[in-house]
Amino acid sequence: MTRQPRKPRRRHEDDEQQRRAIASLATMALAVAAMWTATAPDATVFAGDVSCTAAMVMPVSGGVVERAFAQPASAWGSGHRGVDIAVTDGDTVLVAPEDGTVSFAGGVAGKNVVTIVTEDGLKLSFEPAVATVATGAAVVRGAAFAVAEGSSDHCDDHCVHWGVRNADDEYLDPETLLESRRIVLKPVA
Ligand SMILES: [Zn+2]
Repeated sequence: MTRQPRKPRRRHEDDEQQRRAIASLATMALAVAAMWTATAPDATVFAGDVSCTAAMVMPVSGGVVERAFAQPASAWGSGHRGVDIAVTDGDTVLVAPEDGTVSFAGGVAGKNVVTIVTEDGLKLSFEPAVATVATGAAVVRGAAFAVAEGSSDHCDDHCVHWGVRNADDEYLDPETLLESRRIVLKPVA
């Protein structure tokens, strides 16, 4: 039995593979950069429009609302006191929608909840969520503060519930606080 002579290593194929790998990495990086550009708030675009510069960002990057807010008819009535944002796995990173302070992180009736109080006194609550920063820590808009994991009474591992209360403990629709549109940056001619 004769052994098959070993094929000479074809250097250019390796180079080609490496080139492709680098090219696909570069494409991914560009895609990520493009996503970031599309979602990142840009104060210059809204210069002079205070209501828009104060708008919040989605707590899940590229997040999609799978269940909308439904204002309860009364304080104790049924409704949906927030939005459910779809997550793809159990440890999706949550970013602060607005500057604030982590005021609470822990269990509430078996649910894992993290709450941020903004400088305007809005209480932003997330569940299921486990904080990655200390209670009392300051958070800035867009910075990670928690991961989506733990228990929720209706989201479990497929969504994150985000609720917003004002200083009077009235629930607001988080979607009305988000930036109303995506911004496409164009060079100034
Ligand atoms: Zn919900």
